[in-house]
Amino acid sequence: MSGGPGRALGCGCLGLAAALALAVAVGGAGALAGVWAVGATQASGGSADVAGIPPAYLALYQGAAARFAIDWEVLAAVGRVETDHGRNANGCAPNSAGARGPMQFLPATFAHAARLAGLLDPDICDPADAIPAAAAYLASNGAPADWRRALYRYNPADWYPPLVMGWAARYGYGAAGAVVWPLDGRLTQPFGPTGLSLEPPRCWAGRCYAHFHDGIDLAAPLGTPVRAMAAGRVVLAGRVADGAVVVEVDHGAGVLTLYGHLQVRLAVAVGDPVAAGQVIGSEGLTGNTTGPHLHFEVWSAGVPVDPLSVLPARP
Ligand SMILES: [Zn+2]
Repeated sequence: MSGGPGRALGCGCLGLAAALALAVAVGGAGALAGVWAVGATQASGGSADVAGIPPAYLALYQGAAARFAIDWEVLAAVGRVETDHGRNANGCAPNSAGARGPMQFLPATFAHAARLAGLLDPDICDPADAIPAAAAYLASNGAPADWRRALYRYNPADWYPPLVMGWAARYGYGAAGAVVWPLDGRLTQPFGPTGLSLEPPRCWAGRCYAHFHDGIDLAAPLGTPVRAMAAGRVVLAGRVADGAVVVEVDHGAGVLTLYGHLQVRLAVAVGDPVAAGQVIGSEGLTGNTTGPHLHFEVWSAGVPVDPLSVLPARP
């Protein structure tokens, strides 16, 4: 992909001194590591939120999540949003829509979910049944690979998945500090100067190049899920001038990541909080591209950095 959205990516030779000063100031990947370290310190505040979960509920969330191979933090966040872990279950009286119990199931949905969970004689009002039923239902709708879809199936309202994921982050899901690969794919083009005429000029680390690749390219089968590298907030989601569909995530402290050539149908919208590893879209062919791949950029203080210097070693 040639160039990011809405940025002046031409050879900023007049701004070279400023760019160099920034590069020195941010210190490349070292500064990024500092950002994640700060985040990790803040993440310890999540334990106060976890302490607000009744111990019996916490054990049920963790047990059910382990059984269905999903993230307990998101399951607990559903319980928090629905009834504050049973505290607002209103004695199990139906709400105006007919939903009941700690996980606010409609009776018909609960019967289906309880079958998925293999429950005998299930009780919609008993957290020991409602929580495993919720876990089975979420897993059957795409969790954990696509939490947004699973949560939307749980409650089809646009505000619901972001609200739940916000609570999940407070419980430690995708804790700040975690950095993951955005795509499980093969590196097909590295960061830096290139002979490919598709790429724009750039001055970087004191030298100017006719063609420079601002990120890395990772190739995998068309439609492979693309994940946020780290926790942050979506600041751009949609099509840019050259036709590419992109998502940009702001991680705070001047660090941004960009995911390009995505398929049109995205899993996030502008303003959504995302956790590390959360699916944001899928690998596509939009924009100027010779084949399906993810174009992935990391920016720090307005300067592109080599994503390989930020991402963890491959397993
Ligand atoms: Zn690229």
